[in-house]
Formats: sequence, C-alpha cells, structure tokens
Amino acid sequence: MNLKESQTPLGATLNCKGWVQEAALRMLLNNLDPAVAERPEDLIVYGGRGKAARNKEALELIIKALKNLEDDETLLIQSGKPVGVLPTHKDAPRVLISNSQLVPKWATQQHFDELEDKGLIMYGQMTAGSWIYIGSQGIVQGTYETYAALAKKHFDSNLKGTLNVTAGLGGMGGAQPLAITMNQGVCLAADVEEWRIQKRLETRYIDEIAYNIDEAIDKALQYKEEQKAISIGVVCNAVELLQRLIDRNIVPDTLTDQTSAHDPLIGYFPEGLTVAEAAELREKNPEEYVKRSYATMAKHVEQMLELQRRGAITFDYGNNLRGRALEVGVKNAFDFPGFVPAYIRPLFCEGKGPFRWAALSGDPQDIYETDKVILELFPENESLKRWITMAQERIAFQGLPARICWLGQGEREKAGLAFNKLVAEGKVKAPIVIGRDHLDTGSVASPNRETEAMLDGSDAVADWPILNALINTAGGASWVSLHHGGGVGIGYSIHAGMVIVADGTEDAARRLKRVLHNDPAMGVIRHADAGYDIAKDTLRKHRLGL
Ligand code: NAD
Repeated sequence: MNLKESQTPLGATLNCKGWVQEAALRMLLNNLDPAVAERPEDLIVYGGRGKAARNKEALELIIKALKNLEDDETLLIQSGKPVGVLPTHKDAPRVLISNSQLVPKWATQQHFDELEDKGLIMYGQMTAGSWIYIGSQGIVQGTYETYAALAKKHFDSNLKGTLNVTAGLGGMGGAQPLAITMNQGVCLAADVEEWRIQKRLETRYIDEIAYNIDEAIDKALQYKEEQKAISIGVVCNAVELLQRLIDRNIVPDTLTDQTSAHDPLIGYFPEGLTVAEAAELREKNPEEYVKRSYATMAKHVEQMLELQRRGAITFDYGNNLRGRALEVGVKNAFDFPGFVPAYIRPLFCEGKGPFRWAALSGDPQDIYETDKVILELFPENESLKRWITMAQERIAFQGLPARICWLGQGEREKAGLAFNKLVAEGKVKAPIVIGRDHLDTGSVASPNRETEAMLDGSDAVADWPILNALINTAGGASWVSLHHGGGVGIGYSIHAGMVIVADGTEDAARRLKRVLHNDPAMGVIRHADAGYDIAKDTLRKHRLGL
C-alpha cells in the first residue's frame, strides 16, 4: 500500500459507495494518521498495543472491502481482520466488529499473547479497534471533568496552588497535564520515554520537559508557590519520581498514574532499565520482563499508598495498576479508590459520558459550526460553555478536526439531530461522524474501573455491554464493536462501542434519534437497576423504565 492510499481522504468527494462506508474508511485511516496514532508503523493507535487492524494485509483488505461495500451489506471484522461481507439492509450497521474476545476460562494475558504470536487475534483497546480514536483530545475532557470533580470535592473548585503528580504521557495519559493546568493546577508527570514528552510539547499538552528529577520537583514547588498553572514532564520511571518525593518528604496534593500498567509486557516499563535495554529484554526474555514489571508495579503502588498515608489525595486512573499489584501480593492495593466511584459515577447515572464527533471534511471550520450549535442547544450549561471556549483556545486538532463533550440522556440525541440538520443545510462541508469512548455509562463491565464498587455488587456482570451492542445494532448505528480487555487488560473487562454518521438524510435522522436515545439509556437503566437514586430520577424523567 502506498502512502497516498493510507492517508485519510478529506473533502466532500466519496471514495466509497455511501457516506457511512466513507466515514468508516476515513475514521480507520484517521486512527492510523501519524498525527493521531502513537506508533502508526506498527498499526498501534494508543494504550499499549491497542491496534486498528490486525496487520498490514488485513488493513489493505479492510480498505478495499469498505470501498466496495454496498448500502445493504455489512462487513465483519474479527480481531482486526475482515472475514466476510453479508447481505443486510440499509438501516443495519455497515460494519460489525468483535475484538480480543476469549471464552472466560481462557481469557488470560498469557493465552492472548500466544494467540497474538500466531497472528490469530488482536488487542483492540477501546477506540483503537473500533475506529473512533481522535487523539489525546478524546480523553482530555474526561480528565478535565475528573480533576474538576476532585477540585470541587477537596479544594475550592479549582486546583490553584496545588501540586498534582502522575506518570504516563502516552496517547491517553498525555491529556493529564493539560487537564490539570486547565483546572489551574501544577502538574509534575514522569515518563520513561522522552519522545512521548516531546510529542506532548509539540501538541501543547505539556509546557516543559525536565531531565533531572530534583530540579523538576523544585520547579514544580516554585510554580505551586506562585500559583502558576504550569506542567512539567520529567524523563524518568514513575517509581524514581515517587521515591524522590518520599525521600524529600514532599507530599503532592493529588496523586495518580496513567502508565500502561494494564499490559505488563508491552505497556509498562520496569525500573532500572533504559528504553533500549527494556526493548532488548522484552524481545530476548519476555518472562523476565513481565516479572520485573510486576515487581516495579508492586513498588509503585506501595509508594502511592505511602504518599496517601502522608496526605496525598490518591486515586487509580483506570490502568489496573492496583489489580497488578494485588496479583503479586500487595494486599491493600485497593486502599485508594478508582476514579469512577470517586468522581465519575454520578455523571454516568445521568447518562453522561464522552460523546464525540469529527468533521469528515477535514475542515476545522466545520467543528466551529458544531461548537456554535452546542452552545445554542444548551445555553444553561455553564461548564459546557467554559469547556468549548477553552477547547477552542487550547486544544490543537490531531488528524480530522474533532470535539468531545460529556453529554447525557436527552442531550446526545438533540445534538445528533442538530448536526444532521447542519449537514442537510450545507452549513458544513461534509457529514459529521458521531461516536464515543467505550468508557461510557452503559457500555462497559470493568470491575477495576468503570463498574468498580457498584452499589449492588454487580461489578463483573457483563450482560450490560452485550445488550448495549445489540440495541445499537438493532437501532441502526453505522458501526458497532464489542471488545474484551480494554483499559485494564485481558480478563478484566468487556465493552462495546458505537459510531453513527449524520449525513443529512431523513434516514440518518431516524437512526440518530433511536441510537443516541438508546445508547445512553442503557447506562441510565444499568445504574438504576444497581440502585443509584440519580439514575432512578433520570429514568423517570426520560420515561425509560418498564
Ligand atoms: P500508552 O501506551 O500510549 O502510554 C503509556 C505511557 O506510559 C508511555 O508513554 C510509557 O513510556 C509510559 N510508561 C510506562 N511505564 C512507565 C513507568 N514505569 N514509568 C514512567 N512511564 C511509564 O497508553 P495510554 O493510551 O496513555 O493509556 C495509559 C493507561 O491508561 C492504559 O493502561 C490505558 O488502558 C489507561 N486508560 C485510562 C483511561 C481513563 O480514562 N482513565 C482512558 C484510556 C486509557
């Protein structure tokens, strides 16, 4: 495949037989755009080894199949490989995707790795294998909301004059420094890989890079003192940074981590190795690598627990670091909470979650038009207004221009229909594609993350994401995906994705109304069923109950 074929097509000219197929093609290629993906040469989009297609051959075949796909056919993707095109109908999804699924007894990282070595399976993470990743922007509002909720709970509704320590500046974790400075705090974040920090500097997600840990700490303390909202990325292992903080008896105001701990082999770096040494050990002796990863993760959690005891507001940020430490004997690893029960669940109860959209034209002006629509639709929502204004000022688009907003039950369908009208009236230059993360209200079962500590103890019940994928298929989403292991690793989660295209037609309007109603409704129903009062109220308000 030559470079030209792998570039995301832009503009209003179709390369496929309809806009839904075209949207799938553009979003797949957008996922792999070097400005968007972490390691596009290996088809890796983000989150350790989260891929968009099994291998180069599969990618070529998917592109070809999408170009030939009719309006009454559906393409089937099995762990990143196209396996068939079957007759359906115009309202059915054009693509159905299943990634990384294993029968529960065999759902171990080790068995997954064996299958991956044989080329039989692919890790889809969440939005990588479901073709709706939009770069770090995709997570930044969620991270912003999390820190805003934390600031509201523990500080004076902002992070002014606070030191916020974390690690991991990859595809998702790279949003942390910007989300923290947007909440007016100081961020000090460790990452082993210098190029990751450089990438965040280029995209304006981080302000400064440092190579000396003590100097970075001193600077961060100075910014805290001066109440300046500045972020520093320091090139080191997370455990080295935390150890210096402990040794110098410096207690951060908040503490978390977003290294790829869900993947002890490809994602996490053990201490005491340079990046090159780690790559060599990973290649030559993967068992030894994994052993060292686990030992470092145990130490990492012990350090977080120590800083928590000294007063740092400490939370897990969805990478299963606590789960890994528990596996190797850190019995009290779960003494600090996950971010969902601590800050996000009340939003899930209202059907709120990371709703996102991208302009298929490639023209940023189309996103500014949608921004206007959002501000007109929800004038009473002050935080949304603040978010859109800040996003316009501070967030650089990566790949296709896109926006993310946490919208809830009722709001998502309103937005979707309004976007469809924009397309119909020619106010934007091409259709708008709408989707969301799998980290959403009704689409995931993940006991160490989204469904941690559910009120009724139903953390591991995975009927919900399956129902979510089924109802979105029945409702006519443009593509639907069902994944295993996203966020927290193989064996730890089941989750579903959906994407729907607003192409300006009446058919699209009917599908949008159904899908954008049903998708968050699954979350409201799921949380009401678990006994949450906010969800029960939302259920009554929107008449979702039986
Ligand atoms: P990524 O693989 O793109 O980046 C991980 C980064 O961590 C890399 O830059 C790597 O160099 C760094 N790293 C690994 N081990 C380290 C160590 N010991 N010390 C310092 N740096 C280290 O992953 P990502 O997309 O940024 O996701 C990070 C984690 O967050 C994953 O586990 C992912 O599943 C999880 N995640 C959380 C959310 C959320 O909302 N909380 C959302 C998506 C992903």
